[in-house]
Order: sequence, then structure tokens, then C-alpha cells
Amino acid sequence: MLKIIFLGTCGSVPTPNRGMPAIMLLRGGERLLFDCGEGTQRQMMKARSGFMDVASIFLTHFHADHTLGIPGLLQTMSFQGRTEPLSIYGPEFVEEFCDLLNRLGYLNLGFPVTAKRLEPGDRVEARDYAIEAFRTFHSVPSLGYALREKPMPGRFNRARALELGVPEGPLFSRLHRGETVTVGGRKVRSEEVVGPPRPGRAIVYTGDTIPSEAFLPCLRSADVWISECTFADDMAAKAEETLHSTAGGVARLAAQAGVKLLVLTHLSSRYAQDPAPLLADAQKHFGNAVVADDFMEIEIPVPE
Ligand SMILES: [Zn+2]
Ligand SMILES: [Zn+2]
Repeated sequence: MLKIIFLGTCGSVPTPNRGMPAIMLLRGGERLLFDCGEGTQRQMMKARSGFMDVASIFLTHFHADHTLGIPGLLQTMSFQGRTEPLSIYGPEFVEEFCDLLNRLGYLNLGFPVTAKRLEPGDRVEARDYAIEAFRTFHSVPSLGYALREKPMPGRFNRARALELGVPEGPLFSRLHRGETVTVGGRKVRSEEVVGPPRPGRAIVYTGDTIPSEAFLPCLRSADVWISECTFADDMAAKAEETLHSTAGGVARLAAQAGVKLLVLTHLSSRYAQDPAPLLADAQKHFGNAVVADDFMEIEIPVPE
């Protein structure tokens, strides 16, 4: 399972219907949080996304709208008895941020919080995926993140395996792992029953930034690109001045990169009730664009 849950879809200030920036990725049983604006823990409760076992938090930058939810979230985890360490990844200032957390009055957390500073190009490796940090272009040091799964084994042709006389059970797993097995004196090779390897899925989150062609290598293989979209196109001057994106700007880049789906989030509060202008500007350039709402979920299927 690979699922995205949008916990907060406003930028800068919350509105009655949109919380501050936070995105959860669920993969297998693992929960990863990307940005954690004020009120994120309550959004997690409403979304029933689970939060006690969030393994790591990835921060795009240290503007307050992306980070103020962390103290409250950690305090609740501690109250609920968490002892597992938590890693907070981010650009420059992540060490100072974690240091501040650990010295915040009498917060006194029951588990260690470790800062992991990332530079553009750094990768956080997990067993069957990696998260790569890349440079983005905002008014303070900032990073984007690409979660990329490693290639998956091909589909197992159960009917063909039975036809070749392989009994159901451990031999199936060995064949699926790429081994050759012997059945009744005859060798059965993995390739006879397992299809070609399938590419892993990829999700890219760019955080606050102007859109840049520097993202293209990252975006080309993306199933989903989650992009900020603070402004509609008629506010391009304001977007440039504050180093934020317009709907048209990101949609043109999405079309150029050929991503499968573009999800717009981090809306200026002026579009909180009616994001139609953003969607209209985006869809002029890229049809497969949607605007995220709080609690929207997207599940990315395993490739055929
Ligand atoms: Zn922001
Ligand atoms: Zn920002």
C-alpha cells in the first residue's frame, strides 16, 4: 500500500476548512510525515491516520507554518508512552530546531528526537525505497523530497507454475525471489513463471518554492507531484517576490515533466473556500491536475 493523506492544505495561515501544511505518506505499515504545521496532530486524529508510530518527519524548510505542529505532536506521543526514537530530517537549521525542542520549558519527552541534516542529493535509504532530498528555491534554505521505491519483482504466474508441476508453498516464494527450483527431476527457472521486474512508484513533494526546470530529472518518473500553489496566475508578481508558485507555473512544468498526477496544495487563504481559479489556471496547461482538500487521500496502485 502506498497512500498520501493531506492533513493541511493552506499556506501561511489556517482557515476554518483548511489546516496548516502537513502530508502523511503511508507505505506498508510505515508512517512518514512531511511538514507539520500547527494543529497537525488534531488533523491526524480527524483523519484517523494514526500518529503514535510516525517513524520520521521530513521538513522542507523552517518557516513557522511548516513546523509549529511538532512540539504539540511530540508532547502527545510522549504522554501516550512513546519510547521509540524519532528522526527529524531537514535542511540547515534542523539541529538548532531539535535543540530548541529538547530545551522547550518542561517538555521533557520520553523518547529521543534526533536531527538529521540533509543536503541536496542526500538519500535516506530504507529497505525497499529511498527518499532523496533536492534543492528548491524559496526565501530561506529549503529542500524538496522524492520518495522512490526500488524496482519490484515481476508478477508471479501461479497457473503457469502449477502447470509446470510446482506445488504451492515455499517453492513459489523461491521462484518469485529469482531462484531456480527442481521438481520431479526437472528444473524450473524463475523467468518461466515470473514476469519482468516492475518499476517502483515515486512521489515528489517540492514544498515552498518557485517552480524550476531543475526539478525535471526528479519529476520525470513521478506518479504524483505534490506542489505548493500559493497563487493563481494573476498574482505572478507576488509569487515571484515571495518565492512561491502560481498554478500555471507548476502546471507547465508538470506537462514538461510528464508526471502522471499533479496535486496542488499550500493555497493562499484567499482561495480556501473556492480554489476554482487555481484549478482553471492549472488545467490550461495540464489536464491531470487536482487541488487538495484537507483529508483528501490518494492511493497509488502497484504497477501492472
Ligand atoms: Zn509555507
Ligand atoms: Zn515558506
